[in-house]
Amino acid sequence: MKILVCISHVPDTTSKINFTEADTKFDTTGVQFVINPHDEYALTRAIWFKEKQGASITVVTVGNQSVEPTLRKCLAIGADDAIRVDAEPKEAFFVAEQLSAVVKQGAFDLVLAGRESLDYNGGMVPGFLAASLNYNFINACIGIEIEGNNATVTREIDGGSEILTTTLPLVVGGQKGLVEEKDLRIPNMRGIMMARKKPLNVVPAVDITPSSKTVSFEKPPLKSACKLIDANNVDELINLLHNEAKVI
Ligand SMILES: Cc1cc2nc3c(=O)[nH]c(=O)nc-3n(C[C@H](O)[C@H](O)[C@H](O)COP(=O)(O)OP(=O)(O)OC[C@H]3O[C@@H](n4cnc5c(N)ncnc54)[C@H](O)[C@@H]3O)c2cc1C
Repeated sequence: MKILVCISHVPDTTSKINFTEADTKFDTTGVQFVINPHDEYALTRAIWFKEKQGASITVVTVGNQSVEPTLRKCLAIGADDAIRVDAEPKEAFFVAEQLSAVVKQGAFDLVLAGRESLDYNGGMVPGFLAASLNYNFINACIGIEIEGNNATVTREIDGGSEILTTTLPLVVGGQKGLVEEKDLRIPNMRGIMMARKKPLNVVPAVDITPSSKTVSFEKPPLKSACKLIDANNVDELINLLHNEAKVI
């Protein structure tokens, strides 16, 4: 089985978010980037397939050179090789079409992606990708088993889960649950050394016109300071809820 894992390179959740160029660009100054957490679950499940059933794992990111440490980390965790599509990932359709070209070129039969990226939260790339490839697609997956050409996939639904069967080739939008959190891999020294020798191929982007353009970004309004009211002063509480917060 040839598995492609799509890796989004995202700011660590503790990062301070700021914008530059009249709020049209994310300011990466001082920001630490990590593997998108949903993608880490997908990668760990791919490694499980490799170890238990035999599979090759390629990881791919659409991004500039700054994403390479993230790809090297994936190689240290257990991917066999990596591809960087040399382009700024400015919107989901563009990214999906770049990934689609990689899948066609490598004839991958299982494509694992995250349900959504934790920075721009579009949740569109896996669906666009499956449509572009005309592959089966299941999103929000919390479990996957493969037997020959058949896949059994567990999907999170509101208040429960759903089990579906389908066939390869398949695109999966995965999340926490694909493996247990305790099974996520931390690269060890041997893995880091081996990762230096594994192939990281840089390929040019295919010519795709983005389908949308960001006009500007805006941060949520700052939370106002907390007002403490004497527990016996119910009149003041009602007054503030009515006239200031305007919730009653
Ligand atoms: C330097 C930079 C500049 C950007 N500028 C803009 C901008 O100006 N406006 C704007 O709206 N967005 C911008 N983006 C974000 C860009 O739009 C998203 O990365 C892209 O659209 C994917 O959408 P998403 O993050 O919502 O993906 P989702 O659909 O939420 O991601 C789901 C899954 O798809 C896969 N995936 C997503 N992105 C990639 C990728 N790049 N490579 C491989 N797999 C991927 C991952 O498996 C991920 O878990 C920028 C990103 C970067 C890194």
